[in-house]
Amino acid sequence: MRLFETHAHLSDERFDGEIPSILSRASQAGVAYLTVASADGAESRSSIDIVRQYSSATLPLYCMVGYHPHVASSFGEEDEAFLRDVLSRRKDLRICALGEIGLDYFYDNSPREIQREVFRKQLDIAFAYDVPIVLHERDAAQDSLTILREYYASGRLRGVPGVCHCFSGSVETGRELVRMGFYLGFDGPITFKNNKRAPEVLLSVPKERLLIETDCPYLTPEPHRGQRNEPAYVRNVLEKMAAILSLDPEVLAEVTTENGKRLFGIEESSSESFA
Ligand SMILES: [Zn+2]
Repeated sequence: MRLFETHAHLSDERFDGEIPSILSRASQAGVAYLTVASADGAESRSSIDIVRQYSSATLPLYCMVGYHPHVASSFGEEDEAFLRDVLSRRKDLRICALGEIGLDYFYDNSPREIQREVFRKQLDIAFAYDVPIVLHERDAAQDSLTILREYYASGRLRGVPGVCHCFSGSVETGRELVRMGFYLGFDGPITFKNNKRAPEVLLSVPKERLLIETDCPYLTPEPHRGQRNEPAYVRNVLEKMAAILSLDPEVLAEVTTENGKRLFGIEESSSESFA
């Protein structure tokens, strides 16, 4: 089985000193591609370093760089210059996306107006450098959709615009994102028994737009709940998703892996080649 783990925060301190063993467990579980997630400048730099150090022929690693809405209020010119610099060298640095970017009105760690402004700035950068985005949206579906629709209507979103990571929205929000070309990523919460909405939402998404992710060390799936999450557990997400969709897990693994490769522009199977 070949799995694409599309969202792992490997630079989290909870993984310190353990990356080789974590990656080897991931390989054993079937992970064949992995995208290292980032949420601010420090994490983006560390993701680039992890990819440089640990990407291998058996488990090619890629990373995203970007600024989460939580840190929007400290986003400045230096951060913008950093993004432009690394994105201009993105093939060498194995950067496959700009993210996490978006809006988070649940925590409101930055004022909403500034979150929207920084989201727009990063959408402009993603379009300029022709990279997909990794969208973080929490309790901000309407404002996120309003901004994305505006970019879509004015031709400032790529044909393959990106993924809404850890999608937890409604069927309607999912449809609207799919209409604009987005992929939807699903994580541990779909395995939780009290998640009544997940099956209906999952069934409404076209298979060619589904991605699997862990968001580790967060969102640990069943049956590992209560422990630290790690990339190997993306297999539990895949298996639960396959059960909901009544699909053979092998088939769904192949579909979601191909989806990830298409979204992130990865051309060859398990090789170093990268568009
Ligand atoms: Zn994340």
